Amino acid sequence: MAAGLNHLKERCAGCDRQDVPMNKEHVFPRWLILRTGTDQTGIRWGQKKGVPALAATFPLCEDCNAVFGRELEGPTSRLFDEVEAGRGVSDDDAELLIRWMWKIKGLSWIATHPGGRYTTKYTLRERVLLPIDNIRGRLILRLALVSGLHPDSKDLPMGIDSVTEHDAIFVSGVFSRIAAMVVLDEFVSMVPPEFGRYRLASRRHQTHAAKLFHPPSSFRDDVEAVGLTWTASMALSRAHDKFAQRLQSTAG
Ligand SMILES: [Zn+2]
Repeated sequence: MAAGLNHLKERCAGCDRQDVPMNKEHVFPRWLILRTGTDQTGIRWGQKKGVPALAATFPLCEDCNAVFGRELEGPTSRLFDEVEAGRGVSDDDAELLIRWMWKIKGLSWIATHPGGRYTTKYTLRERVLLPIDNIRGRLILRLALVSGLHPDSKDLPMGIDSVTEHDAIFVSGVFSRIAAMVVLDEFVSMVPPEFGRYRLASRRHQTHAAKLFHPPSSFRDDVEAVGLTWTASMALSRAHDKFAQRLQSTAG
């Protein structure tokens, strides 16, 4: 296909619109790339290592870019400061982190499946910004902090470890000094005990700003954190995918 036509057909990864002012955006936000030092070293991209972090891009319209920045990236970058400083996580923070991880996972999926549709029910923008009260009380956030860098490491981790094709709930990865997983309650026991656990309240509420969840500093270094997160994510990905397929077949 000619490059010009390709450009015209480009859809925004957030809202699916065409023919709106469009940007090329990075799958991993710039603040996290700088925080982890992966602008110098590259990232894990699927099974590949050392892919330049600023080379993983996708089309995003200017409007989605502004909304994602205001609603997700700004607050999440401030939350990283708090969590890494040991100040803990509130119920609101937990929801923010889950939405943010879903966004990264959705964008990774779109960037590695050009022309594919991540979900038929919602756009990615709706999925990461609309209320999630129907599923909130079944979501478990599991977090553990990474104490330091392995002597051989030149950057902090920044990668998704979940590999689901059907499920849109499970997401796992290590980002800077935070190892994180979002799991459905019925699979929570498959997560290694190194990860602290927090179940979201079934409804979002304005009093949910208290820091209730203090993730343990379970990992000595980044290599240990990435190794365990990646290994555990294989079985968790399969379990969530099976569950999603069962739901899809009964719903159809
Ligand atoms: Zn858009």
